[in-house]
Amino acid sequence: MKATEATNRNFGRAARLLGIDATAERQLVTPYREIKVEITLTRDDGTLATYTGFRVQHDNARGPMKGGIRYHPEVDPDEVNALASLMSWKTAVVNLPYGGAKGGINCDPRQLSLGEQQRLTRQFTQRIQDCIGPQMDIPAPDMGTNAQTMAWIVDEYSKFHGWSPGVVTGKPVELGGSLGREAATGRGVLMAAQCLFEDAGSAVANHTFAVQGFGNVGSWAARLIAQAGGKVIAVSDIDSAVQNEHGLDCEALAAWMQQNRTLKGFPGGEQLAPESLLAVECDVLVPAALGGVIDKRVAAELRAKYIIEGANHPSDPDADEVLAKKGVVIVPDIYANAGGVTVSYFEWVQNIQMYHWDEARVNEELHRVMRRAWSDLRTTARTYACDLRTAAFALAIARVMRATGLRGN
Ligand code: NAD
Repeated sequence: MKATEATNRNFGRAARLLGIDATAERQLVTPYREIKVEITLTRDDGTLATYTGFRVQHDNARGPMKGGIRYHPEVDPDEVNALASLMSWKTAVVNLPYGGAKGGINCDPRQLSLGEQQRLTRQFTQRIQDCIGPQMDIPAPDMGTNAQTMAWIVDEYSKFHGWSPGVVTGKPVELGGSLGREAATGRGVLMAAQCLFEDAGSAVANHTFAVQGFGNVGSWAARLIAQAGGKVIAVSDIDSAVQNEHGLDCEALAAWMQQNRTLKGFPGGEQLAPESLLAVECDVLVPAALGGVIDKRVAAELRAKYIIEGANHPSDPDADEVLAKKGVVIVPDIYANAGGVTVSYFEWVQNIQMYHWDEARVNEELHRVMRRAWSDLRTTARTYACDLRTAAFALAIARVMRATGLRGN
């Protein structure tokens, strides 16, 4: 299923609960602006390669637009559109003063040298610099990009606009990045799990977890879940997976990954086919890689009781129906992975104030935001007697509509 179709179906279900008319629905679903640029890169060997860069700005009723930039061969306008829309709903669920955007380049960063990545990023920034900015649209890292990518964007953007660390978040700390940002999305996943299980009178420590993807989100989620006493029994990356029913040593895994850049050969567990990860028998599945990985066929084989969505839109609405029939509880992406954008917001606040918070303050404030949002989400789910995904969309749409109405035409 196309990513926009999936997102719009989720949106539509919540819109019907709220009684939104067709015109307002169309207005809320349609992006504010879609940017598409050509980027020609001179490779290290002197040959030329062309790529397409995208930035979709979805909604700015509640503040400047915010969303990551992804480098991945499968980046396409449909998915960027869906991800931009999800950002509007995500920032609204956790009540940050932002709208939503998303961008990307259809390249494989693993095939590019550091120098090539830098030249590509600088050209992309030149093409979009008049459409982004600290009060307009603030990019951040996503799949295939990182703090270094953000540093290049700050440098290139600042050539046009003067020193502007607040143009992106997820920067290196030396350039105005926030302490705690790197681990923030994974930490938010842990906090979502804590909220979920505390409500049920239980704890993370009483549960087993399988994590798909061992990049920024997956590795931090796994490490922090393990530190909280949860048993991480399986993890995967793009070409390998490893399991250990007694619990994996996630610190050793992260160190292995740092050195080898693959989970292959990790001695602390048995190797597993990466595609089997989603069907591992566990209490909680944390998808933290690509979107669209759980369709109705995968859903039928899935054996987890809970899904906490570290990735964006890992499950489509057909799969959600199968999972609901099986009694699987889904903590949706627009809440569960909002820890990253929340600490991005703290970074932006620190940049505006030219003041640094210590890491304890960052984590404490993140905790407060995730808990308050969980409470709002649970109340909405009870009010409408609906699942958590529909509740998250309903909560977000109501907030965006209210801001849109207050601003007037
Ligand atoms: P990343 O590039 O750091 O890591 C991605 C991981 O997924 C890697 O381990 C990679 O090997 C794995 N992977 C890629 N293709 C795969 C496949 N086909 N099967 C299994 N594993 C595969 O990316 P990230 O920043 O960790 O982002 C992961 C997901 O989380 C994305 O959906 C992203 O949109 C979402 N997300 C990220 C953040 C953030 O702060 N980084 C915030 C919110 C949501």
